[in-house]
Amino acid sequence: MTIAEETTNTDTPEQAQFRAEVRDFLAANAKPRQETSPWAINAHTSEDEAREYFEIGCRWQRTLFDNNLAGLTYPVEYGGRGGAPWMEAIYREEAANYDVSSGFISATMAMLLPTLMKHASDEQKAHYIPKMLSAEITICQLFSEPGAGSDLASLACKAVRDGDEFVVTGQKVWNSAAQFCNWGMLLTRTDPDAPKHKGITFILVDMSSPGIEVRPLVQPTRASHFNEVFLSEVRIPVANVIGEINEGWAPARTVLSNESAFIGGGQGISTFERLVMLAQQFGLVDDELIREELAVAYTREKVLGYMSDRILTAVRARQVPPMDPSILKLYIAASKVQTGNLGMRIGGADAQAGSAEETIWLQHELMNRFGISIGGGTNEVQRNNLAERALGLPKEPGYDKNMSWKDIPRS
Ligand SMILES: Cc1cc2nc3c(=O)[nH]c(=O)nc-3n(C[C@H](O)[C@H](O)[C@H](O)COP(=O)(O)OP(=O)(O)OC[C@H]3O[C@@H](n4cnc5c(N)ncnc54)[C@H](O)[C@@H]3O)c2cc1C
Repeated sequence: MTIAEETTNTDTPEQAQFRAEVRDFLAANAKPRQETSPWAINAHTSEDEAREYFEIGCRWQRTLFDNNLAGLTYPVEYGGRGGAPWMEAIYREEAANYDVSSGFISATMAMLLPTLMKHASDEQKAHYIPKMLSAEITICQLFSEPGAGSDLASLACKAVRDGDEFVVTGQKVWNSAAQFCNWGMLLTRTDPDAPKHKGITFILVDMSSPGIEVRPLVQPTRASHFNEVFLSEVRIPVANVIGEINEGWAPARTVLSNESAFIGGGQGISTFERLVMLAQQFGLVDDELIREELAVAYTREKVLGYMSDRILTAVRARQVPPMDPSILKLYIAASKVQTGNLGMRIGGADAQAGSAEETIWLQHELMNRFGISIGGGTNEVQRNNLAERALGLPKEPGYDKNMSWKDIPRS
């Protein structure tokens, strides 16, 4: 029984009607998952492949938008459907049976759309939200710098006001898909005299602006997930500032919190199910130790699903989540270690050196688990967040918190 079949019995008439609409839409526009391999991976070994995957995702987002299925919980005046959070859950349940995804932009939409709802002016919401929902604007995240990762508030990318524009100079790094996106959400330093959290401005930038250079970083897999982005005297209209000038830390935190919720949310086909298939294939499905680990993987996947539903339902209803999203991100990072180790035990040498479709999937699972414990804030930083925000433990000393940013020693 699929997740969708499990849940239809409890639908209200309104929910059943929406489910039928989604089913009809998917049947008419998408390829059922059974027709695609369960071992398909979305890691790429060439720039062309990666661009194609990015563009397929954008086209799918456009199809959703054209069928009034994008931004289900966003207001109608901003291009959304104005619906309830349960619509997102029904859409996800049904779409899990199809080979569909908006790809990379689903991550930055999950981060920036709630941020715009909370911090942008009505005019900005009316301008950006429909364009993002239709994938006309695709957003990358320009936060990290060579000297500012975990300690993001120490960022140095300088923005100086010149009339109605900011002139921005600096360097960003680890910017996922920046080579494909046409806009960026950028954190800049606008007041070097203020304490580090106080002189930051959050601004949206058109990536085709003169002075922006995007250099892909090639990984050992030959893919370029990330980029370095250099900004040399880039002129950005002051009208693109989200929130207040020098108060950009507030929208930045909204982005980061939604990033943790998104990364922890987990999408697509179940890793547990694939590990069972792998165990069957390697003749280990009756092995007691493997079964015990499979049970752990199953339990963790279910717990993650429930936590994710609770957090995302609150986010979509624009309410405070019932638990800190950091816990979700930490949990999935630990789950990826457990399932990666289990996959290695099942696949043995084949898991590391094999070239069959399923072993290549396994190799990617093993490699990708490192990124998930770093991107969007490392495990250590998420633990700090939980300690301070959820458990109320004393904050880190933060000797430089009240110092002027320009007086903080930097390497
Ligand atoms: C897959 C992936 C995608 C990413 N995408 C983007 C993107 O699109 N845009 C973007 O701007 N950035 C992106 N990043 C960058 C990411 O946000 C940073 O790598 C991350 O914040 C860590 O910063 P750092 O790499 O500078 O490491 P550092 O901050 O230098 O950390 C080094 C080590 O020190 C530890 N550490 C640091 N401070 C503390 C502390 N206070 N307490 C305990 N331990 C600490 C860290 O946990 C880590 O182990 C991405 C990273 C990955 C892996």
